[in-house]
Amino acid sequence: MKKALVCGAGGFIGGHLVKKLKKEGYWVRGVDIKQHEFGPTQADEFLVLDLREEQNCHIALGLPDGLFDEVYQLAADMGGMGFIHSAETEIMHNSALINIHMTNTAAAMGVPRYFFSSSVCVYRDMKPGEPEMTEAGAIPANPDNEYGWEKLYSERMAMAYARHYGMRVRIARFQNCYGPEGTWRGGREKAPAAICRKVAEAEDGGTIDVWGNGSAIRSYTYVSDMVEGIYLLMHSDLDGPANIGCPQYVSVDELVQTVIKVSGKTINIRHIEGPVGVQSRNFSNARIYSIGWQAKVFLEDGITQTYRWIEEQVKKVEMEIRNP
Ligand code: NAD
Repeated sequence: MKKALVCGAGGFIGGHLVKKLKKEGYWVRGVDIKQHEFGPTQADEFLVLDLREEQNCHIALGLPDGLFDEVYQLAADMGGMGFIHSAETEIMHNSALINIHMTNTAAAMGVPRYFFSSSVCVYRDMKPGEPEMTEAGAIPANPDNEYGWEKLYSERMAMAYARHYGMRVRIARFQNCYGPEGTWRGGREKAPAAICRKVAEAEDGGTIDVWGNGSAIRSYTYVSDMVEGIYLLMHSDLDGPANIGCPQYVSVDELVQTVIKVSGKTINIRHIEGPVGVQSRNFSNARIYSIGWQAKVFLEDGITQTYRWIEEQVKKVEMEIRNP
């Protein structure tokens, strides 16, 4: 039985990845600084460890007999645009420490395959209508935020370890990922979850606030597609970073309208000032397509699943407030 370590298994994508690996027949150890917020983990073993500490990376990677066949590194100090702009130093300090120690320890211990979760935040801002950018377009570098710079540094570090230690490193640059069982409140939530929450909390006929003027262009990748992409990439021969993203690009206003449609409510939008990030995205998926990956879930279907789950969470919280 193959053994996999998932770092960040108490988080959104890591939690879904554990389920996928269990389905594929792996023995899985999950590691995170906290338990998963939304129900028990499906990992065979779950260790609560702070991976900024080098000795904890040794504990995470240690097995009584042999080595992990595969290590998936998804632990990061992470959040949506609001968090990325307000917690620049925490992101650069905490995520860099996690990656410095995890990459070094995994390579030194002889781990054969190592996955690193990067982001399309490594790319510069784009103009609407610009042709697709390939992975090579990240250099010369000009990420719009410090989160992107940390990812770029950690990518390069992982590739250096691959060259010097013979560890097979696979790097995915994720587009925005959304779906059930992700952070939906508290300041770290990303746009799709935040908008689902606002619409779920609003009365029919009410108004929600949306940061920016609604024209920023993004693609949103449903979590089951993302996890399939991670798994395929890990088992491929693709060296170097590969973008993973749904090819359906929409404006923020189109995302909001999709959520409103799915909710069945009539909701007005008020645009307010807030951290928006880059104006536009348009990335090539040619590398990930070359190994057989395709997005299967498009925005309205993915938002339907996500909205239903967040609506349930909102109702649970309202019940708790009414019946403490
Ligand atoms: P998440 O915040 O849900 O998961 C990250 C997990 O890392 C959290 O559970 C957190 O507790 C854990 N963590 C943080 N600090 C830690 C520490 N010191 N030790 C151990 N664990 C620690 O985020 P996610 O959306 O599941 O993202 C997973 C990965 O994918 C991250 O590397 C993120 O940067 C990357 N990514 C995500 C998106 C997205 O849209 N969700 C987009 C691009 C890249």
